[in-house]
Amino acid sequence: MSDSGIICREDLYNIWEQKDFRAILPYKEFIFNILIHLDILAEQRRYDTAGSRLPVDNFFVPCMVTERNNTSFMDKECTPERAICLAFVFKGTVIPPALPNRLISACLSMWTLKQYEGRKLLFSGFIVVSFDKAHDIVICVEGNQILLYIVHKTSAGLIVPDIATGVKECLVLTMERISDFYQSTINVKRSPQLPFHLDYSCAKLKCFISEEEGLQTNEWVCDKHKLTHRAENWLVWNQDKKKEHCDQNCPGKIYVAVRLMFTKIRFY
Ligand SMILES: [Zn+2]
Ligand SMILES: [Zn+2]
Repeated sequence: MSDSGIICREDLYNIWEQKDFRAILPYKEFIFNILIHLDILAEQRRYDTAGSRLPVDNFFVPCMVTERNNTSFMDKECTPERAICLAFVFKGTVIPPALPNRLISACLSMWTLKQYEGRKLLFSGFIVVSFDKAHDIVICVEGNQILLYIVHKTSAGLIVPDIATGVKECLVLTMERISDFYQSTINVKRSPQLPFHLDYSCAKLKCFISEEEGLQTNEWVCDKHKLTHRAENWLVWNQDKKKEHCDQNCPGKIYVAVRLMFTKIRFY
């Protein structure tokens, strides 16, 4: 398995043949499925040339990936001209340790891992998946933040708002679900508040304003770049609040509806 974090079912079963794991061997299929359900393991999706899904042979184990992102994807592709960003900011100084890896697994179960310059974009605390031919999704852990970027093939202005909103909502749901599990396992009563809040980035993707403030403030001038932003800047993340922005033929609608449906089936 090593650095790549890829394992096949038989490899794992072979590990469980060892003396220490004998007790679980009779339940190996059940346990394997539990590991997928808990987002410890994620299927490696593959498609044939016609776009049909191929049977799954390999699984990702994001918690085993130790290599840091050393590709040029962020510098060359995830640029202010082509990307938008929001941050999930956690209340403490650190994110609950298992959360990023399980979030990455959840992304792998919903979307296809991106290949860039011949390399798979799965690293420690960093993943890029393809949403469709025009939109990529980046998840990147930095300190007490999980950054979400939506990257468009040509221009940030062409990002379909329904897609950005759908991806955001899908990840919020996923993180709620993972946090619930985390809290239930350490026997803490479920707090009514989420353990994170959202921040929107400035047009240069570097300065941040809280969602709450951003939606209420008429004008926000960011610290580093002195750029002016208005509440309309965040509409891309909040499509429901301005439905008329999106016309009936928007390609985002169907994608997001299907993805969210799939997500909900998995979750509940
Ligand atoms: Zn700025
Ligand atoms: Zn739309």
